Amino acid sequence: MKITNIEVQEYKWKREIPIVDGMLTYPWSGVTFISISTDEGVTGLGLASSGKIVRAAIEELAPLLIGEDPLNTERLWQKMWIPKLMGRRGLTTRAISGIDIGLWDLRGKIAGLPLHKLLGGFRDSVPTYVAGGYYQEGKGLKELAAEMDENVRMGATAVKMKVGALSVREDADRVRVARDAVGPDVKIMIDANCAYRYYDAIRLARQVEDYDVFWFEEPVLPDDYEGHRKVAEATSIPIATGENEYTLFGFRDIIAQEGAAILNPDAKILGGVSEFMKVAALAQAHGLDISSHGTQDIHIHLMAAIPNGLMLEYYRDTHDPLWLHMYKNPLMLNPDGTVTPPDEPGIGVFPNFEVLKEHRVA
Ligand SMILES: [Mg+2]
Repeated sequence: MKITNIEVQEYKWKREIPIVDGMLTYPWSGVTFISISTDEGVTGLGLASSGKIVRAAIEELAPLLIGEDPLNTERLWQKMWIPKLMGRRGLTTRAISGIDIGLWDLRGKIAGLPLHKLLGGFRDSVPTYVAGGYYQEGKGLKELAAEMDENVRMGATAVKMKVGALSVREDADRVRVARDAVGPDVKIMIDANCAYRYYDAIRLARQVEDYDVFWFEEPVLPDDYEGHRKVAEATSIPIATGENEYTLFGFRDIIAQEGAAILNPDAKILGGVSEFMKVAALAQAHGLDISSHGTQDIHIHLMAAIPNGLMLEYYRDTHDPLWLHMYKNPLMLNPDGTVTPPDEPGIGVFPNFEVLKEHRVA
């Protein structure tokens, strides 16, 4: 079998009220598909990061793959990731990630197996947490409490909220309100999206320790491994990080610095399915758990396939106006807060192009 064509399609739509985290405001949402065609009529679907630069990198990489056997995922990964040509990390690695995901979708379709089975099937459904708790115009403590309460009513046994955009005292107060809303038995995680210097992260951690916080995510900038370690040493709350880390080598460095108890790799960022599975194995060898970041439609398979998968990050409709409509089979939360991976071959994602077409940008 040979790859005959690689094509990118990008869609983008506006949020009515932008969501805000500790660092950034997000007025837009969107999705980028990579379609990988073969001479035997099977087509792989990859999901990629959005934006012109990733798109251009995918187009630049495509000729390297034409004529190659799509089953040679390891060889093709190495062919794309030649440091001197493409760079070792950053947006070009995101482009490689999207292509690699498409190759694994293709692999599943060729084998007639859903990706979670192809990768080694460890569990039939995956524990999740509902991500949210963003800052938003018009959203105060009352609205935050209502959102957390709604998550629990949907079945969530764990929830995550943002910190880092307000003062340490105000954010500690938001965590208190969230704890009161969900009760004592639901896990709460906080996520600063790298907003703090290490000493302010420590101040916040100490003020929220009494609210039984399950993890503190990205307290400081991703390259500040030393800062992660300082925060980890100063608080009883476990530190989670990794959504902005690239490749097996980046995770090797996080692990070596002992700055995180939980790793949050993202297949769409770090180097695709191939690299995610290597990071999961490396973490396992160090007694560390994996909790995937974002894009639940891919990660549900990977989290179901590994023995050290802690929780899938799960986004619900409040995060994105098209969330329930952009795919024909959106992943729904089970009443016990788990999610079950689809059983269709590959990643089992079916874009609803009727809905998406008016949002196409490239
Ligand atoms: Mg995060």
